[in-house]
Amino acid sequence: MECFICKSKKIGNYYTHRDNSYVKCLSCGLVFLKNKPNLEKLDQEVYSDKEYFNELYLQNTTQQIEDGNRLLNHIAFYKNSGKVLDIGCGRGYFLYTCKQRNWDTYGIEIAKEEAKFAEDKFGLKVFPGPIEEAGDFLKDKLFDLIVMNASLEHMLNPDDILKIAHSRLKNDGIIFIWVPNLVNSILHIFRRKKDLAENIPYHINYFNTKNLKVLLQRNNFEVIDLRTEMITAISGNIFGTLKSISRVFKKTTSSPCADKKEAQIPNNSSENKSIKDKIRAKINKLDSKITFGSSIIVFAKKRKN
Ligand SMILES: [Zn+2]
Repeated sequence: MECFICKSKKIGNYYTHRDNSYVKCLSCGLVFLKNKPNLEKLDQEVYSDKEYFNELYLQNTTQQIEDGNRLLNHIAFYKNSGKVLDIGCGRGYFLYTCKQRNWDTYGIEIAKEEAKFAEDKFGLKVFPGPIEEAGDFLKDKLFDLIVMNASLEHMLNPDDILKIAHSRLKNDGIIFIWVPNLVNSILHIFRRKKDLAENIPYHINYFNTKNLKVLLQRNNFEVIDLRTEMITAISGNIFGTLKSISRVFKKTTSSPCADKKEAQIPNNSSENKSIKDKIRAKINKLDSKITFGSSIIVFAKKRKN
């Protein structure tokens, strides 16, 4: 067994749950699943499971659209329009937000129920399968923006995925990546074990800021911004974070999303600088110094040779 990032063979046990384990590279800190499913199993079983569709991604639509707009506001600093590819687009909420803001949208989603939802509900163009098999779908397309929001940690071969992303990104394009920050995160000190058990076999790798940077650089990306966030720009808000913490103490086992009803989709996106946004900005500024946030976010571009 060796670490796919630094090739070290010094691997220690990290967390065991039933018949599988997360192990940790003692050199670079990568935490990874010991017994990885193969692509066929992920495609045909893991992400075809109805429970995956029902449990993990049933979230409040209004919140999703709000989060999508917040992320797009971040991205607008680099890119404001063009063609966007969301690798692991899930139900398509983010792409729907992009579409509302006049982006030309494309998605890839291995979970077929999710892909179908994105197509049926939002009229999005989504390839329903693993990106490794999306060659025809991606052929002749170059993107201004590629987003991997909570998907790189699910990938069997991150190098391969980043190579594909690199080949599909325009020379002046931007890639945005969000992954969970397992090891240092304050939130995960409380939630770590439960999170790990819940995420077998979905999360294959847990990166840290250093090894993620190495991975991006060796795939010819130049990192523009890489940092942890206490309250993520994407999936989190302060109330969600507090709810998440309170769940730890309540020890509930139910789905994170109590409200399983689909909320109404608002007609227009709001960009209000609310008090929530101000609190979020203050906390994230603090976290950029202590790197304890539960998320790692990255903006990168193609390296000029
Ligand atoms: Zn390593």
